[in-house]
Amino acid sequence: MIPYGKQEITQQDIDGVVEVLQSDFLTQGPKVPEFEQALTRHTGASYALAVNSATSALHLACLALGLGKGDLLWTSPITFVASANCGLYCDAKVDFVDIDPKTYNMCPNKLEQKLIEAKAIGMLPKVVIPVHLCGQPCDMQAIGALAKEYGFKVVEDASHAIGGRYHDEPIGNCAFSDITVFSFHPVKIVTTAEGGAAVTNQKDLADKMSLLRSHGITRDNEKMVGESHGGWFYQQIDLGFNYRMTELQAALGVTQMKRLDDFISARHHLANRYYRKLSDLPLELPYQLENTYSGLHLYVIRLKLDDISSSQREVFEALRAKGIGVNLHYIPVHTQPYYQGLGHREGDFPSSEQYYKEAISLPMFHGMTEQQQDEVVRVLTEILTEK
Ligand SMILES: *Cc1c(COP(=O)(O)O)cnc(C)c1O
Repeated sequence: MIPYGKQEITQQDIDGVVEVLQSDFLTQGPKVPEFEQALTRHTGASYALAVNSATSALHLACLALGLGKGDLLWTSPITFVASANCGLYCDAKVDFVDIDPKTYNMCPNKLEQKLIEAKAIGMLPKVVIPVHLCGQPCDMQAIGALAKEYGFKVVEDASHAIGGRYHDEPIGNCAFSDITVFSFHPVKIVTTAEGGAAVTNQKDLADKMSLLRSHGITRDNEKMVGESHGGWFYQQIDLGFNYRMTELQAALGVTQMKRLDDFISARHHLANRYYRKLSDLPLELPYQLENTYSGLHLYVIRLKLDDISSSQREVFEALRAKGIGVNLHYIPVHTQPYYQGLGHREGDFPSSEQYYKEAISLPMFHGMTEQQQDEVVRVLTEILTEK
């Protein structure tokens, strides 16, 4: 089976991890700060916090922004459930803004419309999480302008987008947001096995996330209540978690980050070949928003169902049966049983639901060969053109 995504591990990665295993620190040593430096250097953000997953990073981001009971968080329905769940972890209410049918990202016009309506009834969101789906940057300038006008905070879910650029600046510089979150799960662009990070330019947010990453415990005298009892002393001054990344994971991240540019250009090479080879088929191919460079985590095609005789499910299952490990990103979050239980209804976000009926993610990963890609094209062409 040709998988839809796969990590690339080199001898350099292996050597870096083995070196940590032979060192004094498996956790809380020098590698995590080194990885964080690689992230600030790449993104241009002032602060980076490596954690054990993007899900944890999203949770910390929401907590640092003060999201709590009675507050509202809005995100896109077309995302992994974690982009929405972080709001529920904080006892906030979660709602969604429908996607733009061309970019598949949160639509800024629909966001503005929903903000106008929310303002009229005093129900403005505290946090909005745009998701750079497939690595395509959201229209951050428009979202940032609305954040200023309506007074909400912005967390970019850039789990798909490290290495991408918006208006010629790296994703993660937080020019139009408060915090940006990355995932380093093995199917993503850069991997640490499990892992994530939050980057920000705001010291207070970085400090708060750092405190909550490790139990709410401080060893900093300045932050303590009263006097230190001695060299062993620490205080818990907030309720935090253990969301730390290990040294092994950070070592992998350090060597992976060195190859980020290669990862992205390999993905662009493959995407360009897909564009050329699939352009005559009854498909909607990925559209690129002007003045952006995608991280290209995923290559999503949309079936023009009126022009083909099979259903989406038939095409998907025929591809799988012939060894093409396609996938579907994502099932609209508001249609998940858990979210239905919270009062969300099918029909609420028509562009997202239409996208879900047509989308298929084709295999695309750094080590994919042109022969493998040609096989995907051949099988897909055969399925779509057979009568
Ligand atoms: C993968 C992913 C996450 C969660 O990442 P983890 O590191 O697995 O917690 C969140 N949001 C999006 C959009 C993702 O693709």
